[in-house]
Amino acid sequence: MTTPKTIGFIGLGQMGEPMAAFIAKGPTPMICFDMVPGLAPAGATEMDSLEAVIKGADTIFTSLPDGKIVNAVAAQIAAVPDVAGKVLIEMSTIGPAAAKEAATTLNAVGMTYVDAPVSGGRQGALKAAITLIWSGSEDEFKRHRPIIDLFCANAFHVGPEPGQGQAVKLLNNFLSATAMAASSEAVLFGLSHGVEMKTIIDVVKVSTGNNTAIADKFPNRVLPGTFDAGFFAELLNKDVRLYNEFVKEAGTSNLMGERVAEVWNLVEETLPPKSDFTRVYQVLDERAKS
Ligand code: NAD
Repeated sequence: MTTPKTIGFIGLGQMGEPMAAFIAKGPTPMICFDMVPGLAPAGATEMDSLEAVIKGADTIFTSLPDGKIVNAVAAQIAAVPDVAGKVLIEMSTIGPAAAKEAATTLNAVGMTYVDAPVSGGRQGALKAAITLIWSGSEDEFKRHRPIIDLFCANAFHVGPEPGQGQAVKLLNNFLSATAMAASSEAVLFGLSHGVEMKTIIDVVKVSTGNNTAIADKFPNRVLPGTFDAGFFAELLNKDVRLYNEFVKEAGTSNLMGERVAEVWNLVEETLPPKSDFTRVYQVLDERAKS
């Protein structure tokens, strides 16, 4: 099995830029494109169009905001001549339906589509400590493993079909969104009894209520007042929305999902675009006071 000769990377935002930076430090040449110029990491070559990346690379990674954009990009890629045999590894969070749609578009022109969302946030990406959730060809998973290992601490092949990776990613983000919202309310309750935030965190972190918000977001982003986890509230709200949409379609139990969606809709309505999702704590505090 041969590794790709040139890697392409499209979408150099909060997640894409650090992931691309680790790939660029590896042995394979990398070319990239973002609609915002000047974001290419050291060691990579910035191209002036998406088409130039598709023409020059045999494996292309994408990290884009949502399913609509991913499918617009997939259509643009499918229109490039001679793309048969190339592999697209799509790492955005877009939901199962958008992943299947993009796979159909690219399979029709002879490309391999891999549904490969990631988890771990910008802070994880900056340390190559993220998890990649791959669904699609297992052979391609094995072939790309040396590249994946450059920017991920964990990688799982969760199934053969595009959409399965998205399902696992959405259920994960629903749990993360729930932990952040519920922990905000729980901490505010503790504060109302005159207990220090640091004390609440220290206790819960080693007790049964521990979760990713208490272990990481509260001590590192909320307590210091920096609110800089590096994930926009509207993107997390998109994930919760997609989760609810597909739970409805699956017909599985969803008592929690609808309530959690109410919180994140409120956060998106209240805060300006590109606000960090950890600011849910401030939104819930202000709402209770008003
Ligand atoms: P972002 O908005 O910071 O980055 C997206 C990038 O895509 C931007 O640089 C934008 O300019 C570029 N872009 C948009 N349309 C484009 C186009 N047509 N052609 C080329 N470039 C284009 O978002 P992000 O936080 O990096 O997230 C990217 C994806 O990863 C999203 O689907 C998100 O849900 C998912 N994700 C984010 C995090 C996180 O913590 N930030 C964690 C896991 C997964």
